[in-house]
Amino acid sequence: MSGIVIVGAGQAAASMAAKLRALGYDGAISVIGAEPVPPYQRPPLSKAYLLGEMAVERLTLRADTWWAENDVSLHLSTTVTAIDPNAQVVTLSDGDTLDYTELALCTGATPKRLPAAIGGALGNVFTVRNLADVDAMRALFVPGKRLVVIGGGYIGLEAAAVARKLGLEVTLIEAAPRILGRVACAQTADAIRELHRAHGVEIIEGVGLTQLTGDAQVSGAELSDGRKITADFVIVGIGVTPDDEIAREAGIICENGIAVDLHGRSSDRHIWAAGDCAAFPSGAGRLRLESVGNAIDMGELVAQNMLGAACDYSPKPWFWSDQFDAKLQIAGLNAGYDQVITRQGEGESFWYFRAGQLIAVDAISDARAYMIGKRLIEGGKPVTPAQVADPDTDLKALLK
Ligand code: NAP
Repeated sequence: MSGIVIVGAGQAAASMAAKLRALGYDGAISVIGAEPVPPYQRPPLSKAYLLGEMAVERLTLRADTWWAENDVSLHLSTTVTAIDPNAQVVTLSDGDTLDYTELALCTGATPKRLPAAIGGALGNVFTVRNLADVDAMRALFVPGKRLVVIGGGYIGLEAAAVARKLGLEVTLIEAAPRILGRVACAQTADAIRELHRAHGVEIIEGVGLTQLTGDAQVSGAELSDGRKITADFVIVGIGVTPDDEIAREAGIICENGIAVDLHGRSSDRHIWAAGDCAAFPSGAGRLRLESVGNAIDMGELVAQNMLGAACDYSPKPWFWSDQFDAKLQIAGLNAGYDQVITRQGEGESFWYFRAGQLIAVDAISDARAYMIGKRLIEGGKPVTPAQVADPDTDLKALLK
């Protein structure tokens, strides 16, 4: 039986399957997922779920009955081991094969690990990506335990905030000169650092990890400046690698992810990609966005295009992060910024300009600044750094 096969069962896959049915596609849809559970939301894993404030049932993206009701066959605890693009067949880990008319790769990304040579394979050294990762570390989130976090990106900072809220002793180590170096300006990093310090998280920047120590289980970390820190467990949040291996093995062009055109189509005309694993054209190069918004939008776009719509992808990036009582909301992409303006409102916001054009905004506990910034950026409305810098400017009026 031919039809559409979706590899991966995360946000992009779930959005794509639902969109296909919403568009009236009545052929077979198969979704292949490595995890034992139906598609669920990942963002709460390092926030409310880890904190114990969100039940596992609330993570799920669709009611358990949705899949059967919509005639989508879910293959859980199953991976695709090979793609034969000529025969249009995939082989599954259980030995079965599935024919496809169109194949969508929504394979996501895998957290980078520390090398075993420096202790990355010791017990109680965790990464955060899947429900099982968080369930495995949850019992250690008890007051007084000592957590060392490696990496000052969102994963590391969100996990550090949860741990501190639950009464753990937390040290976060960032090898680069400052936290959030890949994703945010120095002003945002300063505000987030201050938030963590005020809550008692120790943040060490510009110092590398030399070795995680311990016998079978980790018991400490040695840093490049000679410091030694004791640890009951370690969370590693040092970025992700796109899961493009099966595509590469099938001869599909990959460039830091599965290379797709603006329609989401790969170098094979019947193979598509969406979400964290997909590298789409942007300016002179390619862009891969690691965010739930991108997974939803690209998943839906590829559904339309598999059915013949030929729509171009025009990303409208947004991100958010909850840390302690602060909500960081980000609109736009700050790549190549040359000026950042700080504005005080309900909270604090940081406005990124490139050659005088507003390209992104980071708003900390300032939903109004976020909404206005997002609409100014998406609408391409003219706004100058001087206008943003002037506290008397009514930015909302510029939306008209
Ligand atoms: P990330 O954003 O790439 O941050 C990793 C950080 O760790 C970087 O600052 C990196 O510095 C640093 N680092 C790398 N190697 C290190 C080492 N050996 N020692 C110390 N620090 C090191 O990735 P992430 O925080 O792991 O997040 C993984 C993915 O989940 C990302 O796609 C992220 O966007 C996503 N996520 C998003 C949210 C959200 O939107 N709220 C929340 C959680 C996760 P360099 O840049 O200098 O390498």
